[in-house]
Amino acid sequence: MGKSVVSIVRYEKPLESVRRAVDLCHGLDHLPNQAKVFIKPNIVFWTRTTPFPKWGVVTTSRVVEDMVILLKERGIKGITIVEGIVTFDPKDTETPAHAFESLGYQNLKKRYGIKTMNVFERPFKKVDLGAGVVLNFNEDTLQGDFLVNLPVLKTHAQTVVSLGIKNLKGLIDVNSRKKCHSPNPEKGLNYMVARLANKLPPSFTLLDGIYTAERGPFFEGKLRRSDILIASSDIFSADKVGAKILGYDPMEIPYLIHAAQDFKRPIDLSDVEVVGEKIEAVASRHEYAFPYTEDGNLPKPLEKLGVKGLTYRQYDDTICTYCSGFTTVILMAIASAWRGEPWNEVEILTGKRMKPSPGKKKTVLIGKCMVQANKDHANIHEMIAVKGCPPDLKEAMQALHQAGIDVNPAFFDNMDMAAGFFMKRFEGKPEFEESFFQIL
Ligand code: SF4
Repeated sequence: MGKSVVSIVRYEKPLESVRRAVDLCHGLDHLPNQAKVFIKPNIVFWTRTTPFPKWGVVTTSRVVEDMVILLKERGIKGITIVEGIVTFDPKDTETPAHAFESLGYQNLKKRYGIKTMNVFERPFKKVDLGAGVVLNFNEDTLQGDFLVNLPVLKTHAQTVVSLGIKNLKGLIDVNSRKKCHSPNPEKGLNYMVARLANKLPPSFTLLDGIYTAERGPFFEGKLRRSDILIASSDIFSADKVGAKILGYDPMEIPYLIHAAQDFKRPIDLSDVEVVGEKIEAVASRHEYAFPYTEDGNLPKPLEKLGVKGLTYRQYDDTICTYCSGFTTVILMAIASAWRGEPWNEVEILTGKRMKPSPGKKKTVLIGKCMVQANKDHANIHEMIAVKGCPPDLKEAMQALHQAGIDVNPAFFDNMDMAAGFFMKRFEGKPEFEESFFQIL
């Protein structure tokens, strides 16, 4: 096999920068005539209740529109933007529709005749990805001729980086997403993610790094203006270069190690030719892990407040998005409930793999998986179970009250409102432009 070409381009202006990234790596040279093309952006979060930071979290509409124009220039008529946005109610079709409208995709419909598709309104098909991984994919994308994959260049608290291959998780159904967060340490999240691209049509990947995120995939970490585009028709090579640019050797990324073994390809860049900017010229370390105390038992911000009598371990890769989405709200509520009086040896456990510690007076188990895994555990003195899948936020609030943590119900009335608090960080920072997420 010859070397795969990956282009690196600094984002400078609409259309021309994306065009350069595509041309340098010949990314659309093998696009079949009359192809049915699907464009997969990354809309990892959306809410209708409040403006929230999209920089480094959601693919810019700038890049989406530029790709549509380049496809139209090649005579492509059948273009569909496809995404499966996580919502707490799987029947909620209004939130995805609101996202597509707000991001300007309706204007793309009018101007270029493209379509939009919420995967949860369409059929899924069981796909055997090999090595025992069977997941249900959006059937339309599987039947397409070509996939334009437009992830955001970001690090990720569970998979270290979230790039081209990980972005494909948005094409699978809810049960498959939960399945990906398996408690089996040998065949966990990274093992599953590594195989997501195995059975999809030919693709082109462009990592949108106009904005990048440190400690992603959401907005709680540090969002940056980085002005980088990385492109390739080889998704694995794009991800290896993307990882390097975020400051990681591909050897440090577990899903890339699995993918290298699966594809029988080198994990280093020996099979990649980089064109355009040099990696070293644009690389910048993006941390992925949220800071915790040395023993891993409390987030640093809670330690700083002086919180005592609480153990809240860092979530692991077995917690799925539905449960992990609670973490920010719960932590914000706990921080604001702290009055300087130690809590009564409370432990809060999440995901599928954690085990209760001995000597705790109250053990809060969040989510059906945690309850099933530990309900009979000998270390539990008093169990406070939040059973749902995904768990109910109000029940989580009641559980905290029962544990003696007097959280303010306002945090739980509308969880999405917490997303709006993060907008304050960007006041007076003109480099964070909302216009990148609009199509006028
Ligand atoms: S309980 Fe939480 S971690 Fe378990 S499958 Fe449901 S959402 Fe995922």
